[in-house]
Amino acid sequence: MAILRFQALKETLNRKPVKIDETDRRSELFGRNVFNETVMRQFLTKEAYQSVKDATLKGTKINRGVADHISTGMKEWAISKGVTHYTHWFQPLTGATAEKHDAFFETIGDGLAIEKFGGTQLVQQEPDASSFPHGGIRNTFEARGYTAWDPTSPAFIYGTTLCIPTVYVSYTGEALDYKTPLLRALQAVDSASTAVCKYFDKNVTKVIATLGWEQEYFLIDSALYASRPDLQLSGRTLLGHSPAKGQQLDDHYFGSIPSRALSYMRDLEIECMLLGIPVKTRHNEVAPNQFELAPIFEEANLAVDHNSLLMDVMDRVGERHNFKVLFHEKPFAGINGSGKHNNWSLSTDTGINLLSPGSTPMKNLQFLAFFVNTIKAVHDHEELLRATIASASNDHRLGANEAPPAIISAFIGTQLTEVLNELEKVTDGKLSPQEKTDLKLNVVGKIPEILLDNTDRNRTSPFAFTGNKFEFRAVGSTANCANAMTVLNTIVAKQLKEFKKSVDALVKDKSMKKDDAIFNVLRDYIKKSKKIRFEGDGYADAWQDEAKKRGLSNNKTTPQALKAKVSKQTIDLYKEMKVMNKREVEARHEIELEDYSMRIQIEGRVLGDIARNHIIPTSIRYQNVLIENVRGLKEIFEKDFKKHSKEQIGIIEAISGHIEHINGDVSKMIEARKEANKIEDAEKRAFAYCDNVKPFFEEIRYHCDKLELLVDDEIWPLTKYRELLFTR
Ligand code: ADP
Ligand code: MG
Repeated sequence: MAILRFQALKETLNRKPVKIDETDRRSELFGRNVFNETVMRQFLTKEAYQSVKDATLKGTKINRGVADHISTGMKEWAISKGVTHYTHWFQPLTGATAEKHDAFFETIGDGLAIEKFGGTQLVQQEPDASSFPHGGIRNTFEARGYTAWDPTSPAFIYGTTLCIPTVYVSYTGEALDYKTPLLRALQAVDSASTAVCKYFDKNVTKVIATLGWEQEYFLIDSALYASRPDLQLSGRTLLGHSPAKGQQLDDHYFGSIPSRALSYMRDLEIECMLLGIPVKTRHNEVAPNQFELAPIFEEANLAVDHNSLLMDVMDRVGERHNFKVLFHEKPFAGINGSGKHNNWSLSTDTGINLLSPGSTPMKNLQFLAFFVNTIKAVHDHEELLRATIASASNDHRLGANEAPPAIISAFIGTQLTEVLNELEKVTDGKLSPQEKTDLKLNVVGKIPEILLDNTDRNRTSPFAFTGNKFEFRAVGSTANCANAMTVLNTIVAKQLKEFKKSVDALVKDKSMKKDDAIFNVLRDYIKKSKKIRFEGDGYADAWQDEAKKRGLSNNKTTPQALKAKVSKQTIDLYKEMKVMNKREVEARHEIELEDYSMRIQIEGRVLGDIARNHIIPTSIRYQNVLIENVRGLKEIFEKDFKKHSKEQIGIIEAISGHIEHINGDVSKMIEARKEANKIEDAEKRAFAYCDNVKPFFEEIRYHCDKLELLVDDEIWPLTKYRELLFTR
């Protein structure tokens, strides 16, 4: 093993940045491999083009005859770009994207062949996908699921394959992927928001959710990666002593990007341009070798697809640069982890960002309505939001010693807090003309001005308002954004629906003016949702106590957090908003629990193996060298030898002590795993892994890391933190 480590280091040190040819402008490259507007106009009949547009904007169905025209156009375009295969591209619940390539090529008898791609093949496929997770849904009905075209996300070419974004559902129509519930949630938020918009502007007929994600990641040389079985098998280092220098000097953050990494980023960005992923920002993150990539925001469904595609492209481009991309939320202990901030807002078909204060009091009242309703939604469903971002890997951020905490709270800044405080004082019932004028001029009307010099920035809040959007920061870097987006849009949809009902009731039953009714309901929401607002330091211990007093949840582990996913409240919510039925919800819960147990199981196995088969034997080898040394000293100095071998003997003893702990704990951990595996119930098993297996990791690691400090560097088998983080 030590041989592998030194070879890897040598290889890494000899690497040169890959040369990147960048002759074309990015704007010219943009969307070149996407079946977009321009291409559709060129390759589709007018009717076919209109049909795709209607499907995208109005959700209308595309009939089979037209689908044939569309598939033919797509095929012609793809072939003109050297494409030979097509695939339905989907996002099963494994977390990775899935594809199965079929050739356009088809024989037609008499030794002849043609390129064929019909409407049927475009619209629906049956991947033999019995190995995708389904949480029991498929077993009971049909063995197979099918994929169906999602015309709202454009087809694209990757390599020589035409990729068609699809949903993946069972024969009975139940969602087996991330996209299906997301599309339903987006539908729900569209209708609820549009209805509320009509109070302010009758011309609004559609509202879309927008998403701008920020992807954090680490880059590690592929040779170094291959020298760490823990990274390879679990995505994170399970042991390794902290280096003398970590991130304490903050010298990496926003610093100049190392040349190999820069070359990787440029290559990646070019690929993204071709695929129509509008990446815009790149920079170093806090930890050494940690970086971030962010696009211009897009419609949420498209943005989710683009993030999933991006993660795949990042891996593939990495191969060309001898990099392994680490998406794990916490690849290195003691070093900053990675997240995926989800910037979210709502936008009308009249071009208005509903979370951006406007130029008139009316527009600002609309802003306030959406702003306050979002906070109320987060308040009512904080535990579900927490559950949404729960995973074995994200547990290392949330609830561990890293922002954001496992407690969900919303940060809005001092200026908006003042606005809400003012609104809380609004009269109960009808408002006097004087009060209304005053509110419109001095409270609501002033919002754009006060926000202009809003310098509030709170880095520890899991859900922060940042001027014209909310930023859900607790999402993990490995997560599919669809999860967070499905929940956020569903809870906001539900909340807006309630809001409309309450306002209409006041107008009808209490014959209030519309504005009065809106002010009244908002006042009520501001009062009721107060406990979710927190402006302070989410790191602080004081917040843990305070949150407890407020009655906010603080679910630190995944099995605990996931309970909220199957609560009655959640099941009712999804049912009412037509996002998922009970079976779909329960199936997902089961899959997530399984995923959790399996990940901890794998980590336990890898850690046990490394500790017993690499660390202990190496330490014994070194101990033998010391024993040999002491023996030699005894030979030379005879009865005086103790004076000269005191330290050596001390180390020999220390090594024995650590070995004893490691070996004992590995045995106990294996026992705990065996016990956990016997448990049939997925939730109980996940708890067993969490409470009985995982605690051994820290113990075992502690002693291994101590040995790393004692044993001769020359024979240490695992590439060290300093080498992983600072070799470029
Ligand atoms: P910062 O938050 O660092 O000030 P930006 O305001 O540019 O930076 O936004 C960061 C991310 O938020 C980017 O990915 C951007 O595309 C996204 N974003 C900006 N406006 C919106 C919006 N209205 N809806 C969704 N995402 C948005
Ligand atoms: Mg951000």
